[in-house]
Amino acid sequence: MPDTTLTWLGHASFRFDTPGGKRVYIDPFLNGNPKCPESELEPERIDVIALTHGHGDHVGDTVELAKKHGCTVVAPVELADWLGGKKGVENVLDPNKGGTAEAAGVKFTLTNAHHSSSNNDGEYMGEPCGIVAEVENGTKLYFAGDTCVFGDMQLIGRIYSPDVAILPIGDHYTMGPREAAVALELLGTKRCVPCHWGTFPALTGTPQALKELAPDVAVDEIEPGDSVSL
Ligand SMILES: [Zn+2]
Repeated sequence: MPDTTLTWLGHASFRFDTPGGKRVYIDPFLNGNPKCPESELEPERIDVIALTHGHGDHVGDTVELAKKHGCTVVAPVELADWLGGKKGVENVLDPNKGGTAEAAGVKFTLTNAHHSSSNNDGEYMGEPCGIVAEVENGTKLYFAGDTCVFGDMQLIGRIYSPDVAILPIGDHYTMGPREAAVALELLGTKRCVPCHWGTFPALTGTPQALKELAPDVAVDEIEPGDSVSL
């Protein structure tokens, strides 16, 4: 089976291509994302979109993309209800923390995250989440979403043993490198793809700073548009 390819689209946006040939977008904030590469603004195909929370810089283009591509959207229940109700998105799965929903052969489990979650109109969008995505060959990707570090990341490590942790490191709205280094220790994950940094001036954390604080972890220092193999 081929590897999973994870591509950073800037900020906390990613797409990954599974060994089975499915294409999944996480928090597709493409248009309006100052770091999204030009070539990624109009996705050619999408099987699933999965969302961590309702903030505009994470929901991004979800409504338009879901309608255009007819893909499944996996989102925390209140956010899912809003997408499926007011926004008219058709194929919505609505798990909540601890629950797993399967779409296109990929298992999406929502985990805890400590943050907030409202939409651009200030409406309550449920609680923010992280996502563990397990692809066909068992590789597990943990997208922490927007969060600070918290002790129960140890449970996420214990239960899911992610192969890679995709962590926010920008500081200000989420944890910075100092907390991310402890997050990696709690997770026990030996590979990290940092995100949610460098998008805006306030997001000052850098992969280099994380590398210095977590010398035992392989930290992928990638630019928007770059891919890593898992
Ligand atoms: Zn947020």
